[in-house]
This record gives sequence, C-alpha cells and structure tokens, in this order.
Amino acid sequence: MGPQGAGKGTQAKRISAEYEIPHIATGDLYRAAIASGSELGRKVEPLLADGKLVPDEITIPLIRDELLKAENGFVLDGYPRTIKQAEALDALLEEIDQPLSIILLLQLEDEVARERLNKRSKLEGRADDLPDAIDKRLATYHKETEPVVQHYLATGKLVQVHAERPIEDVWAEITDVLEQVQARA
Ligand code: AMP
Repeated sequence: MGPQGAGKGTQAKRISAEYEIPHIATGDLYRAAIASGSELGRKVEPLLADGKLVPDEITIPLIRDELLKAENGFVLDGYPRTIKQAEALDALLEEIDQPLSIILLLQLEDEVARERLNKRSKLEGRADDLPDAIDKRLATYHKETEPVVQHYLATGKLVQVHAERPIEDVWAEITDVLEQVQARA
C-alpha cells in the first residue's frame, strides 16, 4: 500500500520476480483492459483518466478471479483501496485459506508524490499523472485508502517503509522485512 508515486509498482514487480509469485495490480489490469478495447476497458477508461476509483462492484469481482488463480501466493499492488475492498479481501483469503503474510506501507509526502508523478507523466504519458488527476488521486488516497491502513494496522502485520529514498534502498529494506517473514513461516 501507499500513495501514488511511492513506488508500489516498481517494488511489487521485484517481489514478484524474486519470490516467483504473480504480481496482481488492479491499475495494470484496468490499463490492459483499456488497451484491449474490451467492454470493461470502455467502462473504466473515463474513471482512470479522471483519477477516480473504479466502483467496488467492478473491482472486487475482478480481484477475486485473479486470486482464485494464484494458488501459491501473490503480491497485490493497488488493492485494497477502500474499506469495502479490504473486507471483501479478508473474507476471500479466509475462504481460500491464504492469509496475508505481510502488508507493506510505502510512505511518501504528498509534495514528493506530486513531483514524482509529474516526472512520470513526461516519461510514460499516463493521462492520470496530469496535475488535476494527481490531486484527485491523492485526495482519494487520504479519504478512502488511509482507513484501510488503519484496518491493517490492527492486524499487526503492517510494516511501514520510508519510500522517499532511492529504489535500491527501499528494496533493501523490503528484502530484510520479507526475509524475516519467511524465517517465521
Ligand atoms: P494505479 O496504477 O494503481 O495508480 O491505478 C490507476 C487507476 O486504476 C486508479 O486511479 C483507479 O482509477 C483504478 N484502480 C486501481 N486500483 C483500484 C482499486 N483497488 N479500486 C478502484 N480503482 C482502482
């Protein structure tokens, strides 16, 4: 978890490669749907462009399907982002008997997030990295997603990582944390 620009995608991809588990990223799934021109893609395209969350009624079943395929673990990226999604995830993971090992929270100040996203918009041309959409996404993060952080703090499985550092430094800390999790397993 973490705000836009914290490096969730970058670090999640490395976790996926290192531990050979699928990287399940709702944002990537939606961008792929848009690129394919599917019905789902057409439905969600204006929401993504505008920096709004896709409704839970669409996102929860999408993730359910992905998790049911991931029998040997997974790294989730960008999900859950609302309390409703977190509750649905908890219920599903109980149903498939795959409890979360750890929740990593990549922390970043809004100002740094804005700078990073502005840079990314120039490099990758993501429509939702333009200033208006960035502001909306960060506001949504504080309003909808920070309560999810509180939800997971209560589990004792949430580890906070300072993401305002070079990718390699953040990765080194994540690796340490994951090694401790493995040693406990
Ligand atoms: P991301 O790449 O994670 O920043 O996601 C890009 C966009 O996809 C978000 O701004 C939302 O429009 C949509 N999205 C990604 N994950 C979710 C989610 N868990 N719930 C609702 N919408 C999502």
